[in-house]
Amino acid sequence: MISKELLEILACPKCKGPVELTVNEDGLLCKSCRLLYEIREGIPVMLVDEARKLEDEPEDQKTNRP
Ligand SMILES: [Zn+2]
Repeated sequence: MISKELLEILACPKCKGPVELTVNEDGLLCKSCRLLYEIREGIPVMLVDEARKLEDEPEDQKTNRP
């Protein structure tokens, strides 16, 4: 379990921005980089190389814009 205090200290190693806990509390998400940092055995892995890239929005939604 990640405490709220720890969460406030943690920042995305890439953009130094804030991260937020996922719904399942199994990772920390940086919304600006769209990277998910896994929490392994209660320890967040704050490494860009280890982070999972989130899928972007479906392409067809973007191309329909005027
Ligand atoms: Zn970031």
